[in-house]
Amino acid sequence: MAARTRLLRRAAVRWLSSSEIVDSDMRCRPSVSHKGSSSSSSDPGLRSVQWVFLGCPGVGKGTYASRLARLVSVPHIATGDLVRDELASSGPLSKQLAEIVNQGHLVSDEIIINLLSKRLEDGVNKGESGFILDGFPRTTRQAEILEGVTDIDLVVNLRLREDILLTKCLGRRICSQCGGNFNVASIDIKGENGRPDIIMAPIMPPEHCMSKLITRADDTREVVKERLRIYHETSEPVEEFYRKRGKLLEFELPGGISESWPKLLQALKLDNLGEEQSAAA
Ligand code: ADP
Repeated sequence: MAARTRLLRRAAVRWLSSSEIVDSDMRCRPSVSHKGSSSSSSDPGLRSVQWVFLGCPGVGKGTYASRLARLVSVPHIATGDLVRDELASSGPLSKQLAEIVNQGHLVSDEIIINLLSKRLEDGVNKGESGFILDGFPRTTRQAEILEGVTDIDLVVNLRLREDILLTKCLGRRICSQCGGNFNVASIDIKGENGRPDIIMAPIMPPEHCMSKLITRADDTREVVKERLRIYHETSEPVEEFYRKRGKLLEFELPGGISESWPKLLQALKLDNLGEEQSAAA
């Protein structure tokens, strides 16, 4: 384990040593590069954001983290994707991983840190700077390791009513050709006891993806319930870990993307950036 941790440490240290140190009031401000330019660790006075997205399975971490990563020009690194890539590669780990993932259990810290280290090293070699992590850390041990190697600026904890999460997971679809993520679930829940209605339109694929849609092997009712149980038991303490350190931003999703995205940008004080980019698009 120590060797794996050293690997992550080395990657993160290399990453940080190529970045400018920022003072604390700069931390939530991304080093933004506009369309056409790439984010570079040599940007004067700022380094790119190092953010983490937390939240239950089905909450939409991948959707919002990837959009945000595009907006602030940093890579979106989802450890679930790294695990699925490894599974698809039929490498030496894949059989062992398939058993764990298909039961809804967590992969060992050692394996996940190994996969993440490799991804970070590759990124450093390609000149990447900053990141939005999605799905890591998922245990307090992982959070401690990450805290020991780099300074996370902000942790966004996406929240959604529990009764919607299962429906959202069961509605997830992936295009087997382009890898696009979609969701066929249509959520329309009347608010009770003063709670607002929640309406989430399906995220439908384009016509050419329709016949190529697949469902993740771990998105069955039984496995999703197990993943939700494990999240509450193992990953919720990670929220507390960051809350104590004053890094946690709680964000309750009010509805689908069109309603939630502008509000998330507002909460992150990035609403001007969102407008700038849509005007430039
Ligand atoms: P979810 O929809 O549950 O958030 P992910 O795509 O993030 O799913 O992860 C899929 C699976 O990959 C997890 O159920 C787990 O088996 C494994 N995994 C991903 N990230 C981690 C991690 N940080 N630690 C351990 N296992 C992980």
